[in-house]
Amino acid sequence: MSLTRCPDCGRQVSDRAVSCPNCGRPRAAAGMVRAVPVAGFEYRSQATLFGWPLVHVIYGASDNAPLKPARGILACGNVAIGLVAFGGIAIGGIALGGIALGPVALGGVALGLLLGAGGIATGYLALGGVALGATAMGGVALGAMTMAPARLTTRSRSGSVQLDRAGAERD
Ligand SMILES: [Zn+2]
Repeated sequence: MSLTRCPDCGRQVSDRAVSCPNCGRPRAAAGMVRAVPVAGFEYRSQATLFGWPLVHVIYGASDNAPLKPARGILACGNVAIGLVAFGGIAIGGIALGGIALGPVALGGVALGLLLGAGGIATGYLALGGVALGATAMGGVALGAMTMAPARLTTRSRSGSVQLDRAGAERD
């Protein structure tokens, strides 16, 4: 038995210890248990369209490519790129994800060319807590046409920007 130094708190820890008795840091290097035994999952359909698999699903991270994107007509993964993409980060024709980018984007942060819906949404039509778009609906909406309790509307005629509260219609 020998002692090693805990990388977190610096205390001497037995190399037999499963975790540091001082701060509780798991000793992943002990060789018994890997820090996170990642069971990566990947499915790639045989059928392809435009050289892309019809369906490509990746969950979990492999050691050499922690954020390998799933690419396919239908893509699902931590990072998904496809005609229809679902993922933590989704980029696609129709994108749904934590961060979604696409002509139609739905997500926590949605950046859509045509439609964006999400916590923060931008798009020609934007729906969200904070919405920015040509037509914007949300808690805070910024756009040419807005529907929101608080709105920041650009008036094309005067070119001025004014912040109104609902029910305080002017003009
Ligand atoms: Zn420690």
